[in-house]
Amino acid sequence: MTELFLGGQWVAAAAGGTRSITCPADGSPVGTVAEATDTDTLAAIAAARRAFDEGPWPTTPVRERAALLDRVADLLERDTADIARWESLDTGKRLVESEYDVADVVSVFRHYATVGAEADDLGDRTVDLGRADVVSRVVREPVGVCALITPWNYPLLQASWKVAPCLLAGNTFVLKPSEITPHSTIALVRALEEAGLPAGVANLVLGTGPGCGAPLSADPRVDLVSFTGSLAVGKHLMAAGAGTVKKVALELGGKNPNIVFADADREAALDNALTAVFLHSGQVCSAGARLVVEAGIAESFVDDLVERARLIRPGLPFDEKAQTGSLTSAAHLAKVEAYVARGLEEGARLRCGGRRPDDPALADGFYYLPTVFDRCTTEMSVVQDESFGPVLTVETFTTEDEAVAIANDSIYGLAGAVWTGDDAKADRVAARLRMGTVWINDFHPYVAQAEWGGYKQSGTGRELGRVGLEEYQETKHVWRNTAPAPSGWWE
Ligand code: NAD
Repeated sequence: MTELFLGGQWVAAAAGGTRSITCPADGSPVGTVAEATDTDTLAAIAAARRAFDEGPWPTTPVRERAALLDRVADLLERDTADIARWESLDTGKRLVESEYDVADVVSVFRHYATVGAEADDLGDRTVDLGRADVVSRVVREPVGVCALITPWNYPLLQASWKVAPCLLAGNTFVLKPSEITPHSTIALVRALEEAGLPAGVANLVLGTGPGCGAPLSADPRVDLVSFTGSLAVGKHLMAAGAGTVKKVALELGGKNPNIVFADADREAALDNALTAVFLHSGQVCSAGARLVVEAGIAESFVDDLVERARLIRPGLPFDEKAQTGSLTSAAHLAKVEAYVARGLEEGARLRCGGRRPDDPALADGFYYLPTVFDRCTTEMSVVQDESFGPVLTVETFTTEDEAVAIANDSIYGLAGAVWTGDDAKADRVAARLRMGTVWINDFHPYVAQAEWGGYKQSGTGRELGRVGLEEYQETKHVWRNTAPAPSGWWE
């Protein structure tokens, strides 16, 4: 059984709780892990607080912190096969996708290792006041104890976006993965331990939000909460964090438009429209789940898209011929089914999917077929709400202004794409989209060097890139008077 990692020790949950993890692709047992309660989380916070206040990590030279991140990347690379296997067993995603994920995670650690490799500091500067009697310095310091809370769709990847910059900046943390997909995060914590991270810097609690999460946003010893997950929980954490005025960084949901103009490269747009929404069965925060296509080409474009969507082959995680995996839980499958039922009630036309696959080999898994609804209108709840499943809605437009208006008509603002052969039009549309990421003639790529995050209710703050590091830093102004003298202001 895997235990919690508190203050540098692997320990059972205080109340003795355990949880069995099963594979959502076939219901087979994956492992048993400790299940924490608030008592364990409070112990984790105490350990992280002690490690921050008493050191040595926050004052370890940046280059040494960076070197540790590099060692972690080496260890993750060494253990890729095992970690990818855990990720697929926990999530039901295809092994090849889990292998991509681990490679991405390695590149996130390498990126932040490179940022710190030659650095004496992480963004300090001297302010030029033109005065000989004053040295004015602005220094970047770690925030303190960070609560890092992650979801089940990209368990390791989402953890890496937080852990790598958090550590480089010199913080300590309590990490809580989703209760249903803990294994790759456990592997990450083992890699941190093996790489030589001092005890208490990294702490791991396993369990549910209601069961062990409350102290992470309420305890005054926690300085920052970085959360990736649903809008509802994000709002709750923001409100809970307000009690102690925590820094709160939120990466929430999305309902991301994929705009296709008639002058786009048709084959590329078509192919990517499928990847945009059906990758990882749509369980991607930036999934292109809203196709917004120019009316003149809409009919034939959607006909071809539907024809291809019908050919996507669901399969077990280790089936090399599979093109998509299962959904990650029974509860999530039920949510997607209810969402599709609502689409039908609302009058959207079901073009394909809308049900589970017939293949008896998949009967024990939470599979759902790629689903396309056309004749959708912007006010429908299936257009507005995130399904987080393999469901595409199609809307049409006739003018550029209309395309932009439809795409921006959402409470979310995470990501979107525009497909056109006209560069000027692409730039105009990209500039008007209220989203944290805009792809032009592409969908899904992200890099560790560039910021990721949402406008509107898709979140606050950014991960990755320079800003993704700054989230984990405080800013302090240090004013040194080099020629102290009485001020004499009361005379
Ligand atoms: P969720 O909000 O249900 O859970 C996310 C995490 O929060 C889990 O670890 C959960 O146990 C924990 N949690 C729940 N209640 C808590 C509480 N009261 N206190 C502390 N922790 C609590 O989300 P999910 O279903 O795991 O993930 C799917 C959602 O994540 C989708 O909405 C998706 O769009 C979003 N997501 C966003 C991004 C992004 O980069 N913006 C990336 C991935 C996923």
